[in-house]
Amino acid sequence: MKRDRRITKDELKIAVHDAYLKFKNKSDGRNADYIPYLANIDSKLFGIAVCLPDGETITVGDCDYRFGIESISKVATAILVLKEYGCETLLDMIGADATGMPFNSVLAILLENEHPSTPLVNAGAISAVSMVSPVGNSRGKWEAIKDNIEKLCGSEVTLIDELYRSESVSNHNNRAIAWLLKSYNRIYDEPELSLDLYTRQCSLGVTATQLSTMAATIACGGYNPKTKETVFPGNLTSRITSLMATVGFYERTGDWMFSCGLPAKSGVGGGIMGVLPGAFGIAAFSPPIDSAGNSVRAQLAIRYIMEELRLHIFDCYKAVMAEKEVVII
Ligand code: GLN
Repeated sequence: MKRDRRITKDELKIAVHDAYLKFKNKSDGRNADYIPYLANIDSKLFGIAVCLPDGETITVGDCDYRFGIESISKVATAILVLKEYGCETLLDMIGADATGMPFNSVLAILLENEHPSTPLVNAGAISAVSMVSPVGNSRGKWEAIKDNIEKLCGSEVTLIDELYRSESVSNHNNRAIAWLLKSYNRIYDEPELSLDLYTRQCSLGVTATQLSTMAATIACGGYNPKTKETVFPGNLTSRITSLMATVGFYERTGDWMFSCGLPAKSGVGGGIMGVLPGAFGIAAFSPPIDSAGNSVRAQLAIRYIMEELRLHIFDCYKAVMAEKEVVII
């Protein structure tokens, strides 16, 4: 029995375009409104981008529109912390478990105070930001966080000032989380400094194309196929995709993995970034989200592509990109 599922670029291109046409007019979900800036983004925006290991990107729709990266930034900063501290320390200081609860849950902190959860929910992400070097130095930490995101995306990213301001005046729940972490000794820098940097990283503007490059970099073991630079050690790909597969869609992660089978991470700005290790990175963007904070159209589009090409990560076949445009099993 053959164990590889070889996908050609043409197959992938067709599936991406079909997904776009199929869900373009789907109007379910609503823009996030607890961050005022996000409520006003055009709900019709929709784009899908797939970045391949050879550096080619397949795009359809609004892939150059700059939107708030929001929680997808948690993946990048988790990589930074894994690089700096290693897997055991991350496990010890933050953890790698799903909470099964909403991204901003305070209850999850209370229930798991002995065992912090994961850098991919707000509490663990604020904790991860607090660990970034140089501790105590806001400017130095910000440079490290932004530089890491740019290396993963393969191009410059800039802060959306209006989003940062909007989020800074409305992030009371996250402030409560930062101080609660302090009371459990699970934050490793000043709570207000950590909260501010977390808010800032969430307010960075990225495009679907950039996110697909970040995803492809993870899929290729830290090798950015656009810049040809190695951004992190290859052994971290399995760790980071494990985190994404466990909690990338918060309390809906099980449903997502069951139906789609792709380690992925969502953000309330409407982005979703998915990694098929060794094969490709995918990103989709559409502002309206479901009640768990995951973009409705982006989920439908990625799920369609995964099902259409039979790419579920837990299938008996391992998906790889065909070297030439010939083999279809
Ligand atoms: N900045 C947002 C928050 O902390 C990120 C949430 C998200 O994208 N799920 O609420």
